[in-house]
Amino acid sequence: MQNRDKLYINGAWVASSGTRQVDVINAATEEVMGRVPEGTAQDAERAVAAARAAFEGWAATPVAERSGLLAKIADGLKARADDIARTVSGEVGMPIKLAQRIQAGLPIANMASYAKLAAEFAFEERVGNSLVVREPVGVVACITPWNYPLHQVVCKVAPALAAGNTVVVKPADLAPLSAFILADVIDSVGLPPGVFNLVSGPGRVVGEALVRHPDVDMVSFTGSTSAGKRISEIAAATVKRVALELGGKSASVILDDADLATAIKSTVGGCFLNSGQTCSALTRMLVPESRYSEAAELAATVARGYAPGDPGSESTRLGPLVSAEQRETVRDYIRKGVTEGAQLLCGGADAPDGLERGYYVKATVFGRVDPKSVLAQEEVFGPVLSIITYRDEEEAVRIANDSIYGLAGAVWSGDDTRAMRVARRMRTGQVDVNGAPFNMLAPFGGYKQSGRGRELGVYGLEEFTEVKAIQTKTK
Ligand code: NDP
Repeated sequence: MQNRDKLYINGAWVASSGTRQVDVINAATEEVMGRVPEGTAQDAERAVAAARAAFEGWAATPVAERSGLLAKIADGLKARADDIARTVSGEVGMPIKLAQRIQAGLPIANMASYAKLAAEFAFEERVGNSLVVREPVGVVACITPWNYPLHQVVCKVAPALAAGNTVVVKPADLAPLSAFILADVIDSVGLPPGVFNLVSGPGRVVGEALVRHPDVDMVSFTGSTSAGKRISEIAAATVKRVALELGGKSASVILDDADLATAIKSTVGGCFLNSGQTCSALTRMLVPESRYSEAAELAATVARGYAPGDPGSESTRLGPLVSAEQRETVRDYIRKGVTEGAQLLCGGADAPDGLERGYYVKATVFGRVDPKSVLAQEEVFGPVLSIITYRDEEEAVRIANDSIYGLAGAVWSGDDTRAMRVARRMRTGQVDVNGAPFNMLAPFGGYKQSGRGRELGVYGLEEFTEVKAIQTKTK
């Protein structure tokens, strides 16, 4: 039981102005595994004041010093890697082996990468008679979701601090505990007070107080498209900068000359990662009409290998969803798929056998999904794959791009030139060709309603800077 009864504001653990706490539920056991304060608008106010007061000093701190502190934070997180993996696996339900690599390993590596990137980054360049300088934006509110909780916090906090901003983090109430571990680490490395602040609590209260606040210069948000829209509207009143990482409905386009078995195995894995609770999940699998039967059979066989089970077990590949509410949402989508007339190839909306506790949903594959149907258009955020057929390359590209989202995608072909041609035509921020791996330094973000701005690598660092041009007279 992780009982966190204090918020981290101005370099100290302090009591919330409210008295309530939020229970954090273990996704597999449905038991309370921790508690965090239900922060208030006054807590948000206090944190912003601390961040504002710390800003000038932190912005003026030499980059080498800022980078050194980020490296220490990365080391501190590394020392707590097991703790982080177990905590997030409990909150979110991701199988422990994956959680070690992704929920703990990725943010640790990311924090370390920003220590290095900050030290190497060109904060200044000459353009004719101008000196162009990149300065920190100011106070940044980081509002994060629950699916990759520490990763999403680090994607914002590491580059923001590297660039000289100060931050207030509002983690998701469903999975806030790893952000508290980060605050422990930050406290231990001696970051100046006010540079990093953590206020848990409801998005509608703490989140909106931050977004509204005139002393917050930028909001960096990851989460649903609907919350992103609301945040944009509120932020418009003070014309603050808003970076958004939102939903997705990513297509895996399997061309007729692709190695079908490899492409399907990888697409199913990319769809079911973290029980489908991944913004870049490959949820639409596009296959040639002529190979539909073969593809449907292969996909169902692969999916049956994802039996839901205890995320604490090393052999589990599919854990529960994060909450009862998410489970119900996903089951409703599965029912909708059936009523819309898609072919249920495996899985379904009923509870998996023998798992009375935990928010489990069966690995589900639908065939012959109409590209215009709800199942093909909306973000399900569960282990549900839709197979859609196409007649030629032109139609495949059209279907892939027929979405309000544009976050990620994949292309499979035996011909690299052809794969690249299709990849270039996809209206998404990322495309993986023939199963190429995730690149932590590549820009990550969406076209269309998947968001605005980019995270990760040097692009993610630039996001947290303002650009100033200082003209000088040439001698
Ligand atoms: P939300 O987008 O509602 O939550 C994400 C974060 O934003 C949380 O910290 C939340 O706080 C906060 N928040 C919510 N509303 C506001 C607001 N008006 N102002 C400021 N902050 C706010 O995601 P949900 O948890 O409700 O998930 C619903 C759906 O969103 C999922 O089914 C999925 O489709 C999508 N989603 C997409 C993600 C992605 O990575 N693209 C990540 C998570 C969800 P709190 O919840 O603590 O109150």
